[in-house]
Amino acid sequence: VRAVVLETDGTLALRDRPKPTADGECVVRVIAAGICGTDLELLRGYAGFSGVPGHEFVGVVEAASGREANWVGRRVVGEITVGCGECAACRTAGPGHCEVRTVVGIRGRDGAFAEYLSLPARDLHALPASVDDVTAVFVEPAAAACRVAEQVRIEPGMRAAVVGAGRLGLLVAQVLRNRGADVIVVVRSGRAESLATALGFKTVAVAAAGTSLARRFDLTVDATGDPDGFDTAQALVRPRGTIVLKSTFHGETPLSLSPLVVDEITLVGSRCGPFDSAIEELSAGRINVKPLVAGIYPLDRFAEAFERARRGGKVILTPAPGNEES
Ligand SMILES: [Zn+2]
Ligand SMILES: [Zn+2]
Repeated sequence: VRAVVLETDGTLALRDRPKPTADGECVVRVIAAGICGTDLELLRGYAGFSGVPGHEFVGVVEAASGREANWVGRRVVGEITVGCGECAACRTAGPGHCEVRTVVGIRGRDGAFAEYLSLPARDLHALPASVDDVTAVFVEPAAAACRVAEQVRIEPGMRAAVVGAGRLGLLVAQVLRNRGADVIVVVRSGRAESLATALGFKTVAVAAAGTSLARRFDLTVDATGDPDGFDTAQALVRPRGTIVLKSTFHGETPLSLSPLVVDEITLVGSRCGPFDSAIEELSAGRINVKPLVAGIYPLDRFAEAFERARRGGKVILTPAPGNEES
C-alpha cells in the first residue's frame, strides 16, 4: 500500500509498504487525513520520529480480529495514543501519559498519510453521518481544543486571548466562545486576521497586543506553535491569570520565571482531548471548520500539500477516497 514516509534524514517520500494486518488491532482504510503543525515540526526533528506521519484522520474499518469484528465497515476517527493499559500512568493519568505509549504518526507507530493504518478498537470512535469526511479530519484537533475547557473552568464573560490564528488556535477560540468566554484572537498576518474575522472573532495584531492589551486577560492560550508565542501569552495575562500552552515545537524556549512567580500565574500544559465532546460539537455545528480548509490533495501530491500547509490553513490528504479497493 502507498504511504508517505518521513525518512531519518527529514525528507518525505512516497513508498510502497506492507499492508497492516488485523493482528489484535483494526485495519482502517484512510479516507482523509489532515496535516497539522505537529507534522511540520516532525519534519524539523520534533520527537525524533521516522515512519509514516499523520494523526488526524477519518477512515473505514476494513478488517478486525475476533471480538472486534463488529467494527468492520464502520466509519471512524481514532485517538492517537496507545498505552500499555497496565502501568500506573495508564491507570491514573490515562494512556496518553503511558511511558511506553505509541502515538499514531508521532511516536513508534505509523500514521495516516497512507492508504491503511491499524489501531486497537479501544482507540476508535464511530462517526455519526452528520459529520462529513472533511469535518471528521478535525475531530482530533477539536478534541485537543476541547481539552482546554476540561483543564480551565471557563466562566461566561471571562476575558480570553488566543495567541495564534492557525488551525488549532481557531478551534480553541471557538470552544472558549461556545462556553461563554469573551474571546479575542491575536494574529500575525492579514490572512490569519481575515480567517479569524470570518469566524466572527475580534482580532488584534501581535505587535499591538503586547502594549495596548497587556495584562488584561483572565486566560491566554498559546497556540502559535512558535517559541515566541509564549511571550505574547505572558504579556497579555492578568496577575493571577492562567496561561494554557498548546504549542509543541522542536527546540527549547528561554523562559524568565520570576514574572510568573510575582504575578502568580497558573501555567497549564495541554495536549490531547476528549473525542466524544469534539464529535458532539462538530456534529451539532457548534465548531465551524470549513473556513479552515486550505486544500485537499491526493496522496501522490504530498509535497505540494505540505508546501501549502506551511502557508497556513488545514491541508487534507486523501489516501484512499471513495470505496475503491486497492
Ligand atoms: Zn495534530
Ligand atoms: Zn502504560
